[in-house]
Amino acid sequence: MTPKLKHLLEVKDLQCHFRVHEGMVKAVSGVSFHLDKGETIGLVGESGCGKTTTAYAITSLLPRNATIQGGDIVFKGRSLLTNVKKDKTIDIFDEQIRKTRWKEISIIFQGAMDSFNPVYKVGDQMVEAIRVHEKVTYEQAKKRVCELLATVGIGPDRFDHYPHEFSGGMKQRAMIAMALALNPSIVIADEPTTALDVVTQYNILREIKRIQREENVAMIVISHDVTTVAEMSDRMIVMYGGKLMETSPTMDLFENPAHPYTMGLFDSIPSLTGDRKEMAERLASIPGSPPSLLEPPPGCVFHPRCPYAFEPCNKDLPPDVEVSPGHTAACFLAEDLYHKRREDEWKKLR
Ligand code: SF4
Repeated sequence: MTPKLKHLLEVKDLQCHFRVHEGMVKAVSGVSFHLDKGETIGLVGESGCGKTTTAYAITSLLPRNATIQGGDIVFKGRSLLTNVKKDKTIDIFDEQIRKTRWKEISIIFQGAMDSFNPVYKVGDQMVEAIRVHEKVTYEQAKKRVCELLATVGIGPDRFDHYPHEFSGGMKQRAMIAMALALNPSIVIADEPTTALDVVTQYNILREIKRIQREENVAMIVISHDVTTVAEMSDRMIVMYGGKLMETSPTMDLFENPAHPYTMGLFDSIPSLTGDRKEMAERLASIPGSPPSLLEPPPGCVFHPRCPYAFEPCNKDLPPDVEVSPGHTAACFLAEDLYHKRREDEWKKLR
């Protein structure tokens, strides 16, 4: 009997570096998480924290100067890193990985609106994507494309339109349809609504969530915007300086963050109702800027900006502390911060 798979996807201690003129950029350093069928996880953090590199490692879309220094990515029980060469670079033409990408794991890119080729009709580009992976006739693929476009609220009359005839929101919705074209098990959405206006953003996110539920696909939603991700995710992962800072069920993370970086991220979310002066003070709550990943700081990577930093933080790596079931934070003070926050909230309620 085949053993039951523990998780649909497991990222285990992934270490991905980039060779650049100045040395090695340690973009991802020891990242581990899992994803289950039908689940949505949100990956958040400031620009350059390693979110997109992690996504590109999963889909094997890393550039030529990327190296996998360690760890593994296991999908349905098999490694996706079989294309890593002896010198730790990646064979981007590996046939097996090419098949997995799109058919099993698809991605909605950052700025996906510009991903369509402007000289081909949108429908034909989608048909082509299906026919590269499946032996179907043009007519069969076209029927599937029209169904998919309908799923995201685009009529079949748009099949023969060129990308410039689509609005930004429509192009983004067409990209979502394209990502679903081959019935993947996992869809990765990397900043899926960047560059869209707020109303379109809201509609697109609702669309993604609805489709995700109906098709029961697992999703990884990546964004620097915590609120965008929180609305859609069952669990959230907070990254900083190429490392995981905190992982938690979404509700528990919002109610009781246990890592100072997560607290800073949440404190920088503007409120529509708060006092303006107090809010302006709060919004500047993470002083400094993200570290250079050419030479990340020793110890806790967040220590140069952390208001709670103390003696061991600048030399020792903090452990991953489980503060409640499924909620871990990489901080020496995680337990204290988690429980103190809970106590404070409780006092406010009384
Ligand atoms: Fe701050 Fe130290 Fe915790 Fe890092 S380990 S987040 S520096 S208190």
